Amino acid sequence: MPTSGGKRLVLRGGESLTALLLRAGAGGLDAAQAERLVSKQVEGPAAGTEVTVLLGSPLPGGARRIELAELRPHLGLTLRLQSSGDDIELQRIEVPVDSTPLRLRGDVGLDLASALGRADLPAPLANSARAVLARAAGGLRPNDRFDLIVAARHAGSGERELGPLLYAGLDRAGGPDLQLVRSRAEAGRFRFVDVLGPASGSSPNPGGLLRPVAGAVTSGFGWRFHPLLRFPRYHRGIDIAAPRGTPVRAAMAGHVVGAGWAGGHGYRVRLAHSGAAITSYSHLSRVAVSPGDIVAAGATIGFVGSTGLSTGPHLHFEVRRDGIAVPPVLGSHAAPAAVSPAEVARARDQLRALLSREFRELAG
Ligand SMILES: [Zn+2]
Repeated sequence: MPTSGGKRLVLRGGESLTALLLRAGAGGLDAAQAERLVSKQVEGPAAGTEVTVLLGSPLPGGARRIELAELRPHLGLTLRLQSSGDDIELQRIEVPVDSTPLRLRGDVGLDLASALGRADLPAPLANSARAVLARAAGGLRPNDRFDLIVAARHAGSGERELGPLLYAGLDRAGGPDLQLVRSRAEAGRFRFVDVLGPASGSSPNPGGLLRPVAGAVTSGFGWRFHPLLRFPRYHRGIDIAAPRGTPVRAAMAGHVVGAGWAGGHGYRVRLAHSGAAITSYSHLSRVAVSPGDIVAAGATIGFVGSTGLSTGPHLHFEVRRDGIAVPPVLGSHAAPAAVSPAEVARARDQLRALLSREFRELAG
């Protein structure tokens, strides 16, 4: 086919095929006819679609006929437009496509996203896989083994199109394993459901912090007059009032980096999370975890008390990112998003069906 001499143009956002063909230098009649023919086959080719155009020599008046134009509205179909006398004819060329998912397994190593990039997974997909796993696990460790399954379509002609992440598993040396299945939630939205989670299932909290204790915030973040020291002092967290002995829950999944006496903070627990975030919980009556423990979001890590520099039972809660105290945002996520037993059961069936398929393996 003489497409080698053609121009390659990319359909711009909001641009019609006619406009693209005019941009290529084609005459108006041919361009309009080409668009009419294509619109009978596919619904408006998407922005980003490549169109190869080969024009004939200029006619009197300057317009040029479309000798040949080719576009591929999707992986499985090529449309070829060819001039035939005064007319243009359209030919459909179907390309066989198989949809064997890709599977990618390996060690997390120092940076999961770059490991996935080396294995040829595009950066957005690699980043989202890392985020999904890190959020659910509360941080990744080099020895953890990952197992990812990605939807894919492979054309007989060699091209590949990757779809969404369908499954993300983590085999952890130092904590419970994860099996996160992409699940359709209400309103056509998707979320990842951990089929190994607690009996009711759990969904990684999408961004918000879980409120560590129920209760009113009695002192906010920032400058305040310290009730005991009796001078203005920067308050690096928030205080939440709660009765002595109330269980304190981890605001996010993470691992324990400190649990014990910490001077003015009294008994304190500090958790490290993915993305260089630390949460800390002070003035506890008692701690319920040890350094190195891995905790799920919502796990009890200690109990409210009034130890250290404190006027009465409350929780002093801090969030640090890259070492800097930031105002904690206790959003709408008062508890991990509830996942119904039916959704977990469905996700489990989905996973069983998925794992029984054949895969194309990528080296991780
Ligand atoms: Zn405080």
